[in-house]
Amino acid sequence: MWIKASGKELADALTSEIFVAVDRKAAIGEAHGAGDGTCKATILDPEVQLRPSIETTFHAVLEWRVVAHSHSVAVLSHVISPQGRVAAGALLEDLNPVFVPYAKPGLPLTGAITERITPRTQLILLENHGLIVCGRTTHEVDTLMQAVETRLRRNPVEVTDVMPNADPMPGFEWAGEQNWLAQDEHALARVTSGSFYPDHVVFLGPGLPMEDNDDGPPVVLSPGVGVQIRVDATEAQKAMLRCLSDVLRRVPADWTLESIGPEAEAELLNWDAEKYRQWLAAKG
Ligand SMILES: [Zn+2]
Repeated sequence: MWIKASGKELADALTSEIFVAVDRKAAIGEAHGAGDGTCKATILDPEVQLRPSIETTFHAVLEWRVVAHSHSVAVLSHVISPQGRVAAGALLEDLNPVFVPYAKPGLPLTGAITERITPRTQLILLENHGLIVCGRTTHEVDTLMQAVETRLRRNPVEVTDVMPNADPMPGFEWAGEQNWLAQDEHALARVTSGSFYPDHVVFLGPGLPMEDNDDGPPVVLSPGVGVQIRVDATEAQKAMLRCLSDVLRRVPADWTLESIGPEAEAELLNWDAEKYRQWLAAKG
């Protein structure tokens, strides 16, 4: 089974080696408790330095030739909200989507998926995470994924892009198009209420802080003023800030948002109990 390597981007698939071949039977074994669940030991070519995605086990257990997984803006803007999930369920009803509650990517998520699917399931919406589409051919999967994307596409609300008058903190710059997240009262309340999907936590840390701290957050909110991003932020960090803005521009004002919660954030960052306790205390 070919699986995307950890840390690689699908956007680079045509220009660099981003996939790694694993023994699918061995990966299925890891899904059921053999090995450590990372599937590192299932790589076929021992010379390969790439590591298989943390999501390898669910790709392996799904009994379809092609399994595509994305964290698209259209899907995220629905699955982070209870009302959005209901709306998506109605829009995709004839495609028989299966909704899976949030679980940590890796074995916990794979377990949550296998508990809920049937052998006929081709469309899975991962709450607070993304989309899985399964099929016999890439064409079938592409067609189904485009159908989902088209039906869940929402027009972004217009936001005013005001450049702050104030200077950013040393080592930071104003984010530009994403400043509205700190300038709009409703958006600010949303972004400070927690993290809505795993990649946000992995790349930007838990939620978005309102001041710099010892963890060196790449993005800091200045309430009412703007969003500051570190001048040396990585492309992935910049992309995740754009993602947050793109998603929130598509969530209607009357939908409530459900964050993954502080425990799930700490799990994603592999924080131990003490670090978690200190962070919660500092948060007040
Ligand atoms: Zn994922």
